[in-house]
Amino acid sequence: MKERKIILAEKEMPKQWYNIQADLPYPIQPPLNPVTRQPAGPDDLSAIFPMALIEQEVSSERWIDIPEEVLDIYSLWRPSPLYRAYSLEKALGTPAHIYYKHEGVSPPGSHKPNTAVAQAYYNKKAGIKRLSTETGAGQWGSALALACNYFGLECTVYMVKVSYQQKPYRRSLMETWGANVFASPTDLTESGRAMLARDPDSIGSLGLAISEAVEDAAGRPDTNYALGSVLNHVLLHQTIIGLECKEQLKLVNDYPDFVIACCGGGSNLAGISFPFLHDKFNDDKSLRVIAVEPKACPTLTKGTFTYDYGDVAKHTPLLMMYTLGHDFIPPGIHAGGLRYHGASPLVSQLCKDGFIEARAYGQEGVFEAAITFARTEGILPAPETAHAIKAAIDVALECKEAGAEKTILFNFSGHGHFDLTAYDDYLAGKIKDVEYPQELIDESIASLEKIS
Ligand SMILES: *Cc1c(COP(=O)(O)O)cnc(C)c1O
Repeated sequence: MKERKIILAEKEMPKQWYNIQADLPYPIQPPLNPVTRQPAGPDDLSAIFPMALIEQEVSSERWIDIPEEVLDIYSLWRPSPLYRAYSLEKALGTPAHIYYKHEGVSPPGSHKPNTAVAQAYYNKKAGIKRLSTETGAGQWGSALALACNYFGLECTVYMVKVSYQQKPYRRSLMETWGANVFASPTDLTESGRAMLARDPDSIGSLGLAISEAVEDAAGRPDTNYALGSVLNHVLLHQTIIGLECKEQLKLVNDYPDFVIACCGGGSNLAGISFPFLHDKFNDDKSLRVIAVEPKACPTLTKGTFTYDYGDVAKHTPLLMMYTLGHDFIPPGIHAGGLRYHGASPLVSQLCKDGFIEARAYGQEGVFEAAITFARTEGILPAPETAHAIKAAIDVALECKEAGAEKTILFNFSGHGHFDLTAYDDYLAGKIKDVEYPQELIDESIASLEKIS
């Protein structure tokens, strides 16, 4: 063996999460109550979240202890391996060093259980018996199903109908871990019934499934709601990714010039990049962070930075974020995890202020990158992850052009073993670039009521 490809840290995992709110030059804008439009306080959120998570949501403490019980479950797959992508580097002929953090080694196959386990733990401790949530592609639903299974909580998942039909094995996985899965829209909630009355054949959307899950939780005292991305506490839990990377890169005496991740709600991007942005804020490091999104759902590159709802039925607090409008229904591209109209307020603010850059790619180039990766590194990426790979390859080729021996780190957010239909379509030449029309974005944004 000439080159050591896997870099594992010492057996130890980080014992604390990193809270970037402690290092921001300004506090981010608060969420607003959807009815009064006043800043949402703990009372607005306590109907659906446990106090421990509400405290983390607004905390300005830099380091937050990871509970022992959470570390115990993390240890099933963490620390996750960091790889040096030697084969990909060779195939590209780039002088750049490319590293990827493999979050696909978790039982559900993505980074999502990093927060699912923490959320299930704090809800269990607060005496909650049941969690409700939504899932698009099925990654988040399976992560929460696994976490609830470990903490003895019931788990109800509203799965966007189109995915429910297209990805039956994600549902099987959730049910194996004991969750109840419904195709959204359902006739179990007001929001679901309203949609079915308007369109009995609705294929659903993430924004609508969120409305159903929030309504479910708000209506039952034994039930809370869990969100898989966007919120500050979710991003906090994901920072274990970047914290591990820092330790692992120290072992090989390297440090990234570029940190890259795909961005749906922003949690895996935050997870890998916030611990490095810590260095940028505190030690003036010059690294660049790149968020990658699909051209079909260009939230950061074409959306507007404004207050908007997180869901179709306007049940959630208003968040200050980049958004395409809460009634935006994205085209049915295969990267289901990147089809959300909004983005995390923290990621949005950092993007607005130039600490994070954003790029958007079409599906064809993204799948081409996925195939290149599978044929060099051997691992099959989720379509979401392939967006990060596409950007990493592009940056590596820019380094080749410039003869620059830069270091690129990207997050391998999940494997694509449940996405083989998408690969079939690509290999059969059926994947086409879909760009979301600017007129529709403008229309959706214009329909947002002015909030000030
Ligand atoms: C959910 C998901 C994403 C997108 O969510 P973020 O919150 O932006 O990280 C990306 N990749 C995979 C594999 C996912 O499951």
